[in-house]
Amino acid sequence: MTYTYDDQNIFAMILRGDIPNDTVLETAHCLAFNDIEPQAPVHVLLIPKGPYVCFDHFANAASEAEIVDFTRAIGEVCRLKDVSPGEGGNGYRAIANTGEDGVQEVPHFHMHILGGRNLDRMLRPSK
Ligand code: AMP
Repeated sequence: MTYTYDDQNIFAMILRGDIPNDTVLETAHCLAFNDIEPQAPVHVLLIPKGPYVCFDHFANAASEAEIVDFTRAIGEVCRLKDVSPGEGGNGYRAIANTGEDGVQEVPHFHMHILGGRNLDRMLRPSK
């Protein structure tokens, strides 16, 4: 595993309390907050509190307790934001942009949870 975590990234600052956030949910191992530039009526970012750069880093290095907590938190955010089809919601998309090709801007693992409108196709055909 060759990831190096930069603790000066903006989500690390949020976790330290250096800058504010619009919290949706906090658990033992993660924090969910509204995206500052929402791309849909529901746009929540879920982040682990641990120093993980991206999804595969988290998947390989996080403890089982962290992984279970994160996964359950996705379910809870969907419930809180009324997007879960299992509870009458209209659905959502969960995205983890990763690295250069994934166009990840903030190098702290985060899951986007988007909903509240039809999100169209996931990817447009490349030109
Ligand atoms: P990504 O391109 O997947 O790294 O997405 C980073 C996301 O973080 C973008 O959707 C930004 O709008 C969002 N973001 C950046 N700074 C903040 C902040 N201070 N509070 C909430 N969301 C933020």
